[in-house]
Amino acid sequence: MSLISKRVAQARNRNQIRKYAYQLRKDLGLDQTEYFPIMRILENVLPLIYPEFHIEAVEDNELPGRMAETTPEQGVIRVRQSVYSAACNGVAWARMIMAHELGHFLFHDSQNTTFAYVETGSRLPPDIDPERQADIFAAELLIPYHLIKDKNVYQIKKHFGVSRSAAEAQLRQAAKVKKRHEAKTHTKEKRPSPEKLSR
Ligand SMILES: [Zn+2]
Repeated sequence: MSLISKRVAQARNRNQIRKYAYQLRKDLGLDQTEYFPIMRILENVLPLIYPEFHIEAVEDNELPGRMAETTPEQGVIRVRQSVYSAACNGVAWARMIMAHELGHFLFHDSQNTTFAYVETGSRLPPDIDPERQADIFAAELLIPYHLIKDKNVYQIKKHFGVSRSAAEAQLRQAAKVKKRHEAKTHTKEKRPSPEKLSR
């Protein structure tokens, strides 16, 4: 029997995280910008909103087994020097890591996360998994639905500064949203209008 303790967060589904990321872009005046300047936002803009916030680039061997880590209470994202440089140079995977860490900073301080023992044989509900929340936040921030719905993988990869696999994954999510919207419009069309009924 394997027993694992995991950190769990206040429940957030993809839809809520998407709305949050959209609002953040809007507040920053970047809701129509394809290439989200994650490093400029982290280094120049976030400290204006959260004065304690800063990034610490450390020697790679100072973070064994970790590319980056965030301590929201201390307002710090610690990141390997190699990842930091890559992110500054616009390398897709490094930009995604930084956006993921920003998600942790915004969502996961000690007030709203808890350590929990996972019930044997059952899976943790995905909406309370902080790593999943940070992954979704990063994808929704860098590759938002409203800007990609009519684009293809190559356009997204090129204009949004993200990897091919991230672009593909986000397009799959966009297809789901489109389907939901279409289903909604469809039911609306099917329902007879009041004047038709009275005739
Ligand atoms: Zn994480």
